[in-house]
Amino acid sequence: MDDSKEELAKNESSTAQSNFIKEIINEDLKSGKVKKVHTRFPPEPNGYLHIGHAKSICLNFGLAKEYNGLCNLRFDDTNPAKESVEYVDSIIEDVKWLGFDWDDRLFYASDYFDQLYEYAIKLIKKGKAYVDSSTSEQIKDSRGTPTEPGKESPFRNRSVEENLDLFERMKNGEFEEGTHVLRAKIDMSSPNMWMRDPILYRIRKVPHHRTGDKWCIYPMYDWAHGQSDSIEGITHSICTLEFEIHRPLYDWCLDQLEIHHPRQIEFARLNLTYTVMSKRKLLELVEEKYVTGWDDPRMPTISGLRRRGFTPEAIRDFSERVGVAKRDNIIDVALLEYSVRDDLNKRAQRVMAVLKPLKIVLTNYPDNQVEELDSVNNPEDESMGTRKVPFSKEIFIEQDDFMENPPKKFFRLSPGNEVRLRYAYIIKCEEVIKDEQGNIIELKCSYDPGTKSHLRSITSATERGSAQSGRKVKGTIHWVSVKHAVNAEVRLYDRLFTIEDPESDEQKNYKEFINPNSFEIINSAKLEPYLQNAKPGERFQFERLGYFCVDKESEKDKLVFNRTVTLKDTWAKIEKRNQ
Ligand code: ATP
Ligand code: MG
Repeated sequence: MDDSKEELAKNESSTAQSNFIKEIINEDLKSGKVKKVHTRFPPEPNGYLHIGHAKSICLNFGLAKEYNGLCNLRFDDTNPAKESVEYVDSIIEDVKWLGFDWDDRLFYASDYFDQLYEYAIKLIKKGKAYVDSSTSEQIKDSRGTPTEPGKESPFRNRSVEENLDLFERMKNGEFEEGTHVLRAKIDMSSPNMWMRDPILYRIRKVPHHRTGDKWCIYPMYDWAHGQSDSIEGITHSICTLEFEIHRPLYDWCLDQLEIHHPRQIEFARLNLTYTVMSKRKLLELVEEKYVTGWDDPRMPTISGLRRRGFTPEAIRDFSERVGVAKRDNIIDVALLEYSVRDDLNKRAQRVMAVLKPLKIVLTNYPDNQVEELDSVNNPEDESMGTRKVPFSKEIFIEQDDFMENPPKKFFRLSPGNEVRLRYAYIIKCEEVIKDEQGNIIELKCSYDPGTKSHLRSITSATERGSAQSGRKVKGTIHWVSVKHAVNAEVRLYDRLFTIEDPESDEQKNYKEFINPNSFEIINSAKLEPYLQNAKPGERFQFERLGYFCVDKESEKDKLVFNRTVTLKDTWAKIEKRNQ
């Protein structure tokens, strides 16, 4: 069996989710048209990557891996006015972080500017391209409409010599911006608007972040993209649906040049609920300070998700789950949250933290006693072991875990009632202390020394206290010892928009749907001392609260955590309540 057949056989027996792109690849391998699969991810460095790009990265690099092929990273850097090195660097970081590797195949469309120029000359010589000296208005006006043909430019029939001369002078910077363009000579009455003599080059007197002042003409996407694919020997050029209509042009250029001809395949963009996903809009959110930056943890950017505590595994898993669609759709962001919960559940160290503290004094606990209680680091992973958590006479619990006048099914703490403190004892609320305004400021409780928890086994994480004392209580709550508590700032995030599809309203701008309560800062959260030395990027489960990640702004004396996601999806419930 040759290589391609072997890959095909492997893939056909693989259990990985199939999709229509793989079917096309399988066909091309079977017919022998393709020997080794070669894809590319071609970002334009005009913004940070978002979760939609992550989908495309996972797809392109994933296919290459699955078929034992190659995937290039190529910057589609043909529009110097909007592009920058900052964006290039962020993209490189993000693709690496997602776990993909392009070896030495990091390319830039700008690397091919000379070759693309030569290709344009070839086209002119074949009589398939011409310099048009109409104004951009005139060109636009003569394009026609989808139902009416366009009009041919008066410059369309210039001689090859004249075209060659003008094109060279365009390149040499002899003309001002907007005075001439190079157009393909195809068909002004084509039903496909993109085939009506599309522009291939325009004059832009803007320095480029890589080629400097060398060029003052820049290729259009349609001219740069297919030819770059061809130069790199790409076999399958995977792009999003809006390029379907460009495909005849993609094919036409390659056919005219008679060079290696990759196959363009389109799939549906990934859209997510409660966010926007175009770089232009994300840039607006950044520039107009609706968010703190591209890596604001509310942003759908890869850097935002990373800062929020998402793992590359979760994003890759999400990408696999959503699959590859042929029609536009919108994916529930809850699926993305599910993926990160699922991943962190397996790996995140459990700790106890109290976000909104209420102090409890255990009146019958010895004044200066401290007990080091055994606590489970991760019930899903025995190898993560246990740790000691200090317990003493004064502890904090969550304000929400106490109710003075509880409804029937409230199983946490209330006057005269009992609750279990995780890994510790059963306590009973004896007295509620209030300030002059009537706010509850402290509880006096008693503890039952005979109910101390013992870990039976790590994996079941069951506590034997109740069995020992012969008493059962329904609720177990988390706590932090007052004298051992570490202060922290905790940042809570909610969806950035209040409606599922902020771009769907034709009357209103998407920014009108920004959620004014998407960010909450908690200044005085109390953490168990284990977290004292937590470092930026580290992720934890705060028991009963959710997954949290140390923020990059965190310092030794001022810890800052971001909430990645709650333990359960509370959004659906809140929404129901509001209806
Ligand atoms: P945006 O419209 O968000 O600004 P773009 O398409 O202009 O994105 P590029 O840098 O050109 O961004 O995209 C690089 C690659 O990522 C392209 O192949 C593009 O098709 C793909 N891509 C972009 N957005 C999505 C998305 N939402 N879902 C899947 N793939 C995407
Ligand atoms: Mg683009």
